[in-house]
Amino acid sequence: MSVRTIQNWVGNREHPPAKGAYMDDFGPATGEVIARIPKSDAEDVDAAVTAAQAAMAGSWSQSTPAERADLCEAIADAIESRLDELAELESLDCGKPITTARTVDIPRAVANFRFFAGAVRHDETGCHDMGRSRLNYTLRRPLGVVGLITPWNLPLYLLSWKVAPALACGNAVVAKPSEMTPLTADALGAIVRDIGAPDGVFNLVHGLGPEVGAPLTEHPEVAAISFTGGTATGARVAAAAAPRFKKLSLELGGKNPTIVFDDADLDLAVEGAVRAGFTNTGQVCLCGSRLFVQRGIYDAFVERFTVAVQQLPAGDPSQPQTRVGALISAAHRDKVEGYIALAREEGGTLVAGGGRTAVPAALAGGYYVEPTVVTGLSANARCATEEIFGPVVTVHVFDDEEEVLRLANGVRYGLSASVWTTNLARAHRVSAALDCGMVWVNTWLLRDLRVPFGGMKDSGVGREGGAHSLEFYTEQRNICVTW
Ligand code: NAD
Repeated sequence: MSVRTIQNWVGNREHPPAKGAYMDDFGPATGEVIARIPKSDAEDVDAAVTAAQAAMAGSWSQSTPAERADLCEAIADAIESRLDELAELESLDCGKPITTARTVDIPRAVANFRFFAGAVRHDETGCHDMGRSRLNYTLRRPLGVVGLITPWNLPLYLLSWKVAPALACGNAVVAKPSEMTPLTADALGAIVRDIGAPDGVFNLVHGLGPEVGAPLTEHPEVAAISFTGGTATGARVAAAAAPRFKKLSLELGGKNPTIVFDDADLDLAVEGAVRAGFTNTGQVCLCGSRLFVQRGIYDAFVERFTVAVQQLPAGDPSQPQTRVGALISAAHRDKVEGYIALAREEGGTLVAGGGRTAVPAALAGGYYVEPTVVTGLSANARCATEEIFGPVVTVHVFDDEEEVLRLANGVRYGLSASVWTTNLARAHRVSAALDCGMVWVNTWLLRDLRVPFGGMKDSGVGREGGAHSLEFYTEQRNICVTW
């Protein structure tokens, strides 16, 4: 396979890194080098910020919401027309099952651009009549240059979740995708140029977090940082942004409970718990990696859940039937395997998986771990409280609502939860008492792009989605007029 070298995107042009340094991008399915990417630094960030500032100083600042909505629609159309190609790139770069990339990741990137096009077309701001010839009205103004930092697990999905509202609101973007999944971000750079977007509204700098993400976060001309990634990195980003008074959105890690009550529809709950545990090979911040099952159905549920997990088609991400693909890197596989070893030490029983997925010889260098289910661990065990971010679910028994709420809320994270019950009152009661940003009842990861998305505690600060994104990517200005 030929190894492509990609460049940064600055002012709609491919832009080699100033120091001429490059690094390897590995394909998780095989462990082979699939591309070379710029190993950029502060100088490249500076060039991108300068291009973005030039865009803000030019005609972009005069663009209307309708024009920006048209631009987002054009990007959506272009992504949609290249859906298969982008899905293959995403699967290759990420090790994710091709069917996930085709049916989830790339369609969602299209939806993000369409959604925020609609959002700014239909946006309304307030007007308050004080009476006696006094009126207050509110304008939204773009922030200027915004920095967008994204992780590797849902590359174009999450990048577009930030780029779309940022552009729709009239900002200029400097994006820093994960160094492990640069390929669809590069394709987005080409799409933005090809549809004729104004120079400098979208810029992209590849490289390592400390060498690109940190200077972007610290840059005095960057007005806001939207960051999605791990909690430890989020703390660094917050520390750098705070003294510079930047607007900051942090979407961080999770250790989300799936709670199944005795009265749940068992078929639905088993299917839902499998999906929550193993979608994208367990590498979604929202994955339900802690499964709490009420005592009356515990044995029956675990038996059915275990069989369903063992039957998940795992292995080659390029095969359409594959549901569990490769992990992102050798280091991440080692981390996940370290947690599986720890689960044994902590007294857990592996009732499914635990080893490496059997794959054809051509994939022997890839990073595969079997879908794994652990029972018998204390809910306070490290494996049950720390984010593993892989295909590992720990299962715990509980007796009543009070106990499960204490266990579910007893971690430092607070991103999401799913609750499975046919008791309506219980569904509302438990949902309201869970310490997290999002609760799904009798479903998981059913998304409506209008609702607030985000977490509490160590899972983040702020909300994205719908009006919350418009709020984040604009500064509101109140004007009080008398006559
Ligand atoms: P990560 O924190 O290692 O990296 C995220 C991004 O930050 C990358 O682009 C990285 O290069 C950059 N970065 C690293 N150091 C930096 C620094 N000092 N300054 C600025 N940027 C820096 O996370 P990851 O391993 O890529 O992603 C997995 C994590 O992301 C998991 O914890 C997962 O839960 C979380 N995540 C959260 C959400 C959410 O919406 N809450 C969504 C997806 C993933």
